[in-house]
Amino acid sequence: MNEHDTERLAGMLVADGMSPAPSEFDADVVVLNTCTIRENADLKLYSALGHLKALKEQRPDMQIAVGGCMAQKDRGQILERANWVDVVFGTHNLAAAPSLLRRARKEGPLVEVLDAPDPEANRDMAPALYAVRDSPFAAWMTIQTGCDNSCAYCIVPAVRGREISRPLEDLVCEATMLAESGVVEITLLGQNVNSYGRDITKRGPLFAQLLCALGDVSGIERVRFTSPHPKDLRPETIRAMSDTPNVCPQLHLPLQHGANRVLSSMRRGYTAERYMEKLARAREAIDDLAVTTDLIVGFPGESDEEFDASLEIISAANFDSAYTFIFSPREGTRAALMNDEFIHDDVIKERFSRLKHVLDRSALAKHDARVGLVEEVLVEGPSRRNDQMWSGRTRQGKLIHFPANDSTVRAGSLVSVRVRHGAPYFLLGDMETVLRAPRHKVRIPLLTS
Ligand code: SF4
Repeated sequence: MNEHDTERLAGMLVADGMSPAPSEFDADVVVLNTCTIRENADLKLYSALGHLKALKEQRPDMQIAVGGCMAQKDRGQILERANWVDVVFGTHNLAAAPSLLRRARKEGPLVEVLDAPDPEANRDMAPALYAVRDSPFAAWMTIQTGCDNSCAYCIVPAVRGREISRPLEDLVCEATMLAESGVVEITLLGQNVNSYGRDITKRGPLFAQLLCALGDVSGIERVRFTSPHPKDLRPETIRAMSDTPNVCPQLHLPLQHGANRVLSSMRRGYTAERYMEKLARAREAIDDLAVTTDLIVGFPGESDEEFDASLEIISAANFDSAYTFIFSPREGTRAALMNDEFIHDDVIKERFSRLKHVLDRSALAKHDARVGLVEEVLVEGPSRRNDQMWSGRTRQGKLIHFPANDSTVRAGSLVSVRVRHGAPYFLLGDMETVLRAPRHKVRIPLLTS
C-alpha cells in the first residue's frame, strides 16, 4: 500500500508540473514516503534525512518533504530533529503534497497532518487516476484505506485511521481505464479487503460484489487482492472467487499464530480451528487454490507449548508460502506495553528456524507437485539474477523462471510454461507457447542525431 501511495504521490507531483529526476542528486524536490510497519523505520528515515542534509547544504533551493505513516505518527518531531525538512504531511492528506510544497516556498517549513481521514477526500478518484505506475501491465488499486480492527501488535489503525471504502463504481471505472491502457492484472489493496464497503452500505458483502463486477471488465485477465482478514472471510467471497474466472486462485490469509491464547492476546478475533475451517471451505470451493499467510514469531508471552501448537497448525495448513515476522514492538500499540512478557532473542531465533523448516517443507511439497503441469505465465521481465532467463507469475501468483529462447516474448506477454523443477521460493520451467503479445503500448524512444 505504501508503494502504491508513492505511485499516487508521484502522479500528483507530475500533474502539478514536475518531472521525475534520475536521482536525488539532480532533484529539486525529494519526497520520502515513510512506512512504520517495518522495524527501524525511524532509523531509516533519519539516516536518509542526514544524507539529504548534505545535499541541501550544497543546493539550498532543494525542497525535502516527509509523508506517510512515520510523518503521521511523529509530526512536529520530524522538524525538531531535522530542521532542514520543508514539508511534513500525513497519511490522510497525501493529495495536499504539491500545494504544501508550493506554499512552503513562500511561507517556510510547514507541518500539516490531519488527525482523521476526510472520507470524501479519501474517496477522491484523482490520486488513483494520476498515479505514475511502475508497470504498464500490472497495477495496484487501493479499494479501502484504514482499519477498524485493533490487533495488539499493529500500528496501522493509529496511523491510517478508520476504514474508508472507495465507491464500487469508481473502482470499476478505474479498472476499465487501466484495461484500456493495456493493464491486464490488478491487485486490490486494503488492510482488510473483505470488510470493503461496510462503511458504505449494510446491504450484502460489497467485496464479493466488487470481485464479480471486476470479472466483467473487458481486458482484465487477472484479479488478485491483499489482504483479507480470516474473521471476515465470508462464503460470498469464496463463491465470488470460484465463480469469477479472472479472479486468480490465490488467497493470502494471514494466520499470524496457531495457538488460541496467543490469537486472543493478539486480538485477532478467530481461533485456529475457525481459521482451518474457513481454509478448508475455500480449498473445497476454489480449484487449484494457492494459500499464503503471515506469521509472527515471539509475540509477548508465547510459551514453548504454544509455539509447538502453532507449528502443528501451520504444518497442517500446508501453506504455499508465508511472510514470517519476528515480533518487534511498535510504540503506541498494546503489545509494546507487554514488555515483561517479551521473549528472549535466542529463543525467538531457535523458534524462527524451526518455523522456516516447516514452511520450506510445505512450500517445496506444493512446488514439487506442480512439476509436469503447464502454467499460464504473465511475463514480468528478465530474471534479476540471470538475463538469459525470463521471470513471470503463474495464476497462483508463484514466481517462475524459464529460458528466454523466444525473441517474440516481452514483459507483459502471456505464455504457457511447463514446470520442470520446484524450489521452495520459485518454479523453473520451459516455455511451450506464446498465448498472446503484451496489450500495453510500448514507447519507442526517438533517436536524434
Ligand atoms: S487487521 Fe491488519 S491492519 Fe488491521 S489492525 Fe489487524 S494487522 Fe493491523
